[in-house]
Amino acid sequence: MSKKDYCGLFAIYNHDEAARLAYFGLYAQQHRGQESAGIVTWDGENIREHKGMGLVHDVFTERHLGKELKGRIAVGHVRYSTTGASLIRNAQPFLVRFGNTQLAIAHNGNLVNTVELRRELEATGSIFQTTMDSEIFVHLIARHLRDGGVEQAVAKACARVRGAYSLLILVNNKLIAVRDPHGFRPLALGRVNDAHVLASETCAFDLLEAEYIRSIEPGEMLVIENKCVTSIPAAESIPTRQCIFEHVYFARPDSTVFGEVVYENRKRMGQILAEESTPDVDFVMPFPDSGIYATVGYAQTSGLPLEMCMIRNHYVGRTFIQPSQTMRDYSTRIKINPVRSMIKGKRICIVDDSIVRGTTIRSRVKKLRELGAREVHMRVCCPPIRFPCFYGIDFSSKGELIAANNTVEEIERFIGLDSLHYLSIEGLLKSVHAKDSWCMACFNGDYPIDVSPETNKSCLENEVALSW
Ligand code: AMP
Repeated sequence: MSKKDYCGLFAIYNHDEAARLAYFGLYAQQHRGQESAGIVTWDGENIREHKGMGLVHDVFTERHLGKELKGRIAVGHVRYSTTGASLIRNAQPFLVRFGNTQLAIAHNGNLVNTVELRRELEATGSIFQTTMDSEIFVHLIARHLRDGGVEQAVAKACARVRGAYSLLILVNNKLIAVRDPHGFRPLALGRVNDAHVLASETCAFDLLEAEYIRSIEPGEMLVIENKCVTSIPAAESIPTRQCIFEHVYFARPDSTVFGEVVYENRKRMGQILAEESTPDVDFVMPFPDSGIYATVGYAQTSGLPLEMCMIRNHYVGRTFIQPSQTMRDYSTRIKINPVRSMIKGKRICIVDDSIVRGTTIRSRVKKLRELGAREVHMRVCCPPIRFPCFYGIDFSSKGELIAANNTVEEIERFIGLDSLHYLSIEGLLKSVHAKDSWCMACFNGDYPIDVSPETNKSCLENEVALSW
């Protein structure tokens, strides 16, 4: 089972060029998943599908978009996963046919009672085709469809699962969008002419010149059928717990996520970080691309000059893993290259979004020292990540997290810094608008939903000792 699923969702209802717009909607959200991409459409009689491994522009051709994916309703998905789960059969949307029903589902998030549910479903006859937790929804919906309408079946399925899910479900010509009751992962509603659009991030709307209407509410089910849009509220009202890490790192800065503009929040993180701690240095700099927007805020508040001394090559795709260390070094260096004269003899403060394992920044600091930097300090736009995420962000094992087992001083030494300061939890909360509605479990261990013992066990088995 994949424990690492951050994904991008897109859907459009009632548009002549539904598949083409879905393609662009996924293109805009490529950062949310690069392993596989898929689009399904409803052609009036059947759900059509095309999925493949790789980037959106590798998976779809003119033939798919112009001829095969016919219809005025489309649902698309981009998926990130790691080895093992990186299989074409795990690509989404996941399409099934049973009786007169054709159902396709696209899921962003992670469930935390997968092992138990899967065991229970298999014991009573379900045969799973994939290793994805998302398939559990399909089996639960299929069972409950016997008792009534599809909305009811979806609601009953949601009542059985625990964890993070933003879902897009196409059932024949009906489109259903759901966010879990805590609202961990985003999902936004928009409109372009007579068509409704849904996406994980609003950057997908901008590309299509769609108007942003609102975020789907935690626990809300939105049903779109013909010209009718119905909102079915959650049965129970529980505290909202939206993932603050979407604002720290994951979402694109030009998106509105959970109703808040990511760019503005990131800039404020930098401003508050500067208020908390500013070293005596010659300039502040980001490593592109993450951290750039916070660095702008940091420079404004600290009064330090902002320099962009690391230059990114925008034309690098995947570099093949080479057998020798020299070749691996080339492929790292091709992505980002320093302006050497700017670094020699300078006292530098790096601002970055986060430290996960600490290995990326460690090699970067080593490089800056080799280039003659006199001092290297670092300021980080979020608190130390001490706890694994079970709800869809890719740091699932405690052993991977440098801050889980080390003090700030130890991390400073490991990376080779002259000083290190992380944004405080209070500072992070001041950077965003909503106050009481965040999941901050990766920083404070306060998990909104308990993780089943089996999920927890599989996490602990991954624990490895940090070595340096
Ligand atoms: P490292 O500390 O070597 O694991 O790298 C941390 C950097 O990876 C951060 O500065 C981010 O730019 C990026 N990052 C943050 N979170 C994640 C994540 N969940 N998956 C992949 N990269 C991430």
